[in-house]
Amino acid sequence: MINNESGEDYLEAILRLSAVKDDVHSVEVARELGVSKPAVTKAMRLLTQKGYVSVVDNHIHLTDSGKKYAESVYEKHKMFTAFFKSLGVDAKTAEADACRVEHVLSDETCEAIRALLALQKTDVN
Ligand SMILES: [Zn+2]
Repeated sequence: MINNESGEDYLEAILRLSAVKDDVHSVEVARELGVSKPAVTKAMRLLTQKGYVSVVDNHIHLTDSGKKYAESVYEKHKMFTAFFKSLGVDAKTAEADACRVEHVLSDETCEAIRALLALQKTDVN
């Protein structure tokens, strides 16, 4: 499921893909997120307007602010995944649920869970 409001899922996917190779194509983003190529094109238009990505000939690059934003979403993603797994949720469900709550919970709640994990010494990576 894609949270399209902010394009956070797209930023996160681009970040993950660009960790593997520096040239990210929209078709790869579509495959990663299970969406159509036109959906990616539409999202990239939005993210370009916000200054988070630049797209040249279907090659997508995160701008500095886009990279920073994507990293903060991905950090939450890993944290929530670790949190749910520490509760005994299976890895696949933990990951899927993390990918939803990462977009909606407040910074305050994220901070509280982060502190709890630190206390439990749960490895978030
Ligand atoms: Zn995620």
